[in-house]
Amino acid sequence: MSKQPDQKGYFGQFGGKFVPETLIAALNELETAYNHSKRDPKFKKQLQFYLKEFAGRPTPLYYAEQLSKHLGLKVYLKREDLLHSGAHKINNTLGQVLLALQMNKRRIIAETGAGQHGVATAVAAARFGLECEVYMGEEDMHRQALNVFRMKLLGAKVNCVTSGSKTLKDATNEAIRDWVSNVRTTHYILGSVVGPHPYPVMVRDFQAVIGKEARSQILQKEKRLPDYLMACVGGGSNAIGLFHEFFNDKKVKIFGIEAAGHGLSSGQHAASLSKGTVGILHGNKSYLLQDNDGQIKIAHSVSAGLDYPGVGPEHSYYKKIKRAEYVAITDQEALQGLKNLSRIEGIIPALESAHAIAYLYKAAKKIKKKSIVVVCLSGRGDKDMEMVSKLKVL
Ligand SMILES: *Cc1c(COP(=O)(O)O)cnc(C)c1O
Repeated sequence: MSKQPDQKGYFGQFGGKFVPETLIAALNELETAYNHSKRDPKFKKQLQFYLKEFAGRPTPLYYAEQLSKHLGLKVYLKREDLLHSGAHKINNTLGQVLLALQMNKRRIIAETGAGQHGVATAVAAARFGLECEVYMGEEDMHRQALNVFRMKLLGAKVNCVTSGSKTLKDATNEAIRDWVSNVRTTHYILGSVVGPHPYPVMVRDFQAVIGKEARSQILQKEKRLPDYLMACVGGGSNAIGLFHEFFNDKKVKIFGIEAAGHGLSSGQHAASLSKGTVGILHGNKSYLLQDNDGQIKIAHSVSAGLDYPGVGPEHSYYKKIKRAEYVAITDQEALQGLKNLSRIEGIIPALESAHAIAYLYKAAKKIKKKSIVVVCLSGRGDKDMEMVSKLKVL
């Protein structure tokens, strides 16, 4: 069993590089630059510097005492919500912007769903004076208007995508189109562990800092490894970032939490691993939501960050080899999770992270008392407040 993809970028049967011929050279260039940077002490030092001084790492592994008492567990929250720009995404965008500089590419493009990746990209691009264009579905631009404003304030150009479902999947198509035409000058920053090789492994490695820190923090605080890891799964970057470092610790049980939207049997959800089938989307082979003709279905979740019909290939691999279990939480349950954590710990989580909290409440009824659980709090809830305030939450 391996946690590295093979030469062609496959984790078991998942992953690969399904792209137009015009992009192969760019992907190879990226892979070479990335492999070089991995071994380059100067690059590593530079990245570490910005993660610490600019983004605010290490993030606390916070013992949630009130929540722990309430659930009869020992719950630790990995506080990615405290990072600059409000979520784990900055770990990846800082890494990729530094890589772009190494490749001498001074134009950055990105796609965004919740707007969080767009903001994290615009933040990193602004810091290094790079030109930045972000593709965003019209639907998401409405849902996350404040993030659109943030990106513009940071100097990015936001391109409104009106095709298809007008969400992340369509924005990704447009970004790929841009990249094909401008590949010599432009680096495309993908926001999750999706896309063609080497993105899934590269983004994972940039996010693995979450699990590396969490592992040493829990060993320091508890003198042992946790019993459970839990994280929400959209594309799967915060989750794999936490899980990766624990891959070989077979006693640590791993749960990925997808969005069940209106319910797994409603047809309106984003649970690619729980309900999807294997196919190809955005350059890689993985579980995804498709109909019998292979048409991609429209995903639904109350949280824009989980609203994606695919999932990173490494998660499909974890599922296949049973290293992780994937479960799903509905919109309603996630809203309850948001309310619960806000009230019991004074922490307002992102709606995405609230899915993991909601599952923690469910799991607490089944798992052994006093178990140590590490939950990834991938982001803060501020971005969701306008939308949530219009729903019946209180
Ligand atoms: C984007 C986002 C997610 C989903 O992305 P992953 O790649 O699955 O981590 C989860 N939480 C927050 C706060 C996000 O912004």
